[in-house]
Amino acid sequence: MIDFTPSEDQLAFREMAEGFALNELRPNAIEWDEAKHFPTDVLAQAGALGLGAIYTRDDVGGSGLGRVDSVMIFEALAKGCPTIAAYISIHNMCCWMIDTYGTGDQRAAWCPKLATMDTLASYCLTEPGAGSDASALSTRAVKDGDDYLLTGQKQFISGAGTSDVYIVMARTGDAGPGGISAFLVEKDTPGLSFGANERKMGWNAQPTRTVNMDNMRVPAANMLGAEGKGFNIAMSGLNGGRINIAACSLGGAQAALDATVAYMRDRKAFGKALIAMPTLQFRLAEMATKVEVARTILWRAASSLDAKAPEATTLCAMAKQFVTDECFNVANDALQLHGGYGYLSEYGIEKIVRDLRVHQILEGTNEIMRLIVSRSVIAEN
Ligand SMILES: Cc1cc2nc3c(=O)[nH]c(=O)nc-3n(C[C@H](O)[C@H](O)[C@H](O)COP(=O)(O)OP(=O)(O)OC[C@H]3O[C@@H](n4cnc5c(N)ncnc54)[C@H](O)[C@@H]3O)c2cc1C
Repeated sequence: MIDFTPSEDQLAFREMAEGFALNELRPNAIEWDEAKHFPTDVLAQAGALGLGAIYTRDDVGGSGLGRVDSVMIFEALAKGCPTIAAYISIHNMCCWMIDTYGTGDQRAAWCPKLATMDTLASYCLTEPGAGSDASALSTRAVKDGDDYLLTGQKQFISGAGTSDVYIVMARTGDAGPGGISAFLVEKDTPGLSFGANERKMGWNAQPTRTVNMDNMRVPAANMLGAEGKGFNIAMSGLNGGRINIAACSLGGAQAALDATVAYMRDRKAFGKALIAMPTLQFRLAEMATKVEVARTILWRAASSLDAKAPEATTLCAMAKQFVTDECFNVANDALQLHGGYGYLSEYGIEKIVRDLRVHQILEGTNEIMRLIVSRSVIAEN
């Protein structure tokens, strides 16, 4: 038997996350979006609730939960604001990478303060010349005594300029994935600088900047994991990152659907409430079905990661592509069912559409997800 019933514990922390989302995020989400405000004080509140290191081990301050637990929490958080939920998911991914691949000293130095979210983290893989083809990255790390000298540029880095620690993937060896190592870089390192906050369609409540490294000296002790393992580390972080981002799409879509049902009860056309129109009822049925199917594949992928199943990478790619595509469509349908009001920012629906759009692009585009899935289908048959 497969049990889809959340445990008492899962219900409890999902309720806690939803309470935080509805009380602290949702009432401010439109204003933060308009002002392009990154609410670090509210992130610290999330940290105090154990949301900064959800699936990091508890000996370094993490909450020690699993991946199914995590996707339930990110869905709940995104009901308040997909952008803030998504930044918390990136931060969690970084903390987990340090917990999993870091030395005892690195875990002790970073994880406890990342867990409280008094200290924030960014993930630096993408470059101007290497996006989908990330293993072609060209940032160089050259050994110099007990240090490495890093030179290069990272593009589209979430949280950059505000974050305190950066996980930077850089080339220590030959071309290809085996020549890449990961480094922990502190914000005040000489030679590190940041570009302007990018002007973008959504995700306005978190900054996106370039990260520039000019002969930046980083102690060799800051290498995360073994030399040449940086690309594997970056990809294993993304398995969890992808389902968490998908969970943020799911929470956004569920919130848009809920708001749409409420709106359709009130709004009248041709002498009756929209909710009484059979064609629109069918539309709601389709939206609700998409959301439920998305939740099911998401839990399946998360549970395969918890089980360390060999098919976990493929399932996470399937879930990321399917959930982010379908949940974007649901949010867009919710906008349509609001008529002209859906297009106004005060109703909050157009913001959800704008925020969810980028989930189809980042942490590996949905074309790259199809590439991962198709490779595995072809290899198996
Ligand atoms: C708001 C935002 C925040 C981000 N945050 C981060 C972050 O914190 N850290 C980080 O490292 N990166 C981050 N990214 C970068 C993101 O992961 C990349 O944008 C993404 O991986 C795509 O890379 P690209 O933009 O260079 O597109 P390209 O790789 O240039 O792709 C362009 C198009 O070609 C398609 N394509 C490319 N290759 C193939 C192929 N082989 N088969 C089929 N289609 C293909 C792509 O799917 C896409 O549609 C962020 C991006 C955005 C927009």
